[in-house]
Amino acid sequence: MEVLTGLGDRLELYGIAAHSRWRELAAQSHQLKPRVAVISDPSLRGQVPADAFHPQTELKFGPDAVAELASHRDVDIVLSAVVGAAGLHGTWAAVEAGKAVAIANKETMVVAGPLVVELAKRTGSALLPVDSEHSAIFQALQSGRRDDVRRVILTSSGGPFRSWTKEQLDSVTKEQALKHPKWVMGPKITIDSATLMNKALEVIEAKWLFDLRADQIEVVVHPQSIVHSFVEFNDGSVIAQMSPPDMKLPIQCALTWPYRYDCPAPKLDWSATWSLQFEAPRRDLFPALDLGFEVARQGGSCGAVLNAANEIAVDRFLKGLLNFNDIPRACRAVLDSHHFDPSPSLSELLRLDAWARQETLSWTSSRSI
Ligand code: MG
Repeated sequence: MEVLTGLGDRLELYGIAAHSRWRELAAQSHQLKPRVAVISDPSLRGQVPADAFHPQTELKFGPDAVAELASHRDVDIVLSAVVGAAGLHGTWAAVEAGKAVAIANKETMVVAGPLVVELAKRTGSALLPVDSEHSAIFQALQSGRRDDVRRVILTSSGGPFRSWTKEQLDSVTKEQALKHPKWVMGPKITIDSATLMNKALEVIEAKWLFDLRADQIEVVVHPQSIVHSFVEFNDGSVIAQMSPPDMKLPIQCALTWPYRYDCPAPKLDWSATWSLQFEAPRRDLFPALDLGFEVARQGGSCGAVLNAANEIAVDRFLKGLLNFNDIPRACRAVLDSHHFDPSPSLSELLRLDAWARQETLSWTSSRSI
């Protein structure tokens, strides 16, 4: 909303959608007066007062209304920012309709990356990354030919437990894990950042978005979160994208690409003395990272299974029903017990997603805390 307001009349908001938080959605309809607002939870139909929304905004309900909004002929670009595999439905509809899609929903790429990329090629849809690391890679890739890329290096803040021991990690509480040192985000991605599963998912996302091999992707810990990622070319030249950690920049970059307008995000202060630090990630402490590389190597059905297992394990952790260290263990167990399919269809992926959720529930229920 801040980015759109800052852009003035360069962009017009056609529609907005939320699952159940209709009060916030209604406030946004008064602020930017979109033509359509969708509440995807159909059970709220009849419960939301008709006059809560701006009179210019038409209110609709249900997941089909989300797909209808994302593919409407008056829409040029869709910002997909739903958490989890639930974002696949609307993203798919937008790509199928050939819209430019600003992707903040990394789980869609993790679950169905190859199918989404193939569909985008067919419909001419442009996939514009919003994830800060992938936005950085996207920007740095403009410095050379794609064939001349040696590797990309994703930066990670390291999360709040960067210097903890394995034993300390065993007793991590929800409150500790929800305190991210650099970014203010929703609960699911904050826990993913603490386990480094977020970085694992980003490795898989990068593989599909930029057509990379798993061995062309590296992860480096960078606690200041100023460098958002690097691209290294064949001649050894490394191009970084830098800015203070603030999502308004990558959001605006995706919405206005290739134009760069003034942005309401903070700027680097070159009059101050500061330094940047880089170190290798602790793979022994954060086994989620290796899971990400393994899934990026194998592809096929692995992404859908890893993502679903992680969504359930994080949910159980947030409810106080699972140990922090058991989150990657649950993912490993469910990944190992699934029947690998090298090129699943969308419906097979959705079936696997449901299976993996059930399987993770049984695995986590059998662990005492
Ligand atoms: Mg990110």
